Amino acid sequence: MYCQGLMQRGFAPLHIDRNGYHVSFEAVPAWICTQCGASYIEEPEVQEVQSMMEALDKSTARLKATTIPVAA
Ligand SMILES: [Zn+2]
Repeated sequence: MYCQGLMQRGFAPLHIDRNGYHVSFEAVPAWICTQCGASYIEEPEVQEVQSMMEALDKSTARLKATTIPVAA
C-alpha cells in the first residue's frame, strides 16, 4: 500500500497494548509485503481479534474489581 510491493498471503505477529494488560499473537493470517515486510490484517481477522479484546476487557474489569489497592 505504501511501497507498492507485491502482497502475499502469510502470517504476521500481532501485539496489542491495552490499559493494564498486553496481548501477543504469534501468527495472525495476513497479507505480507514481499518488498518491505509490512503486514496488513484483513477485516475478518480484525473483527475476530476485536471480539477477543472485548471479552478480555470484561474479564480484566472483573479482575480489577477484586484487586487489592496498592498503597501509594
Ligand atoms: Zn511494502
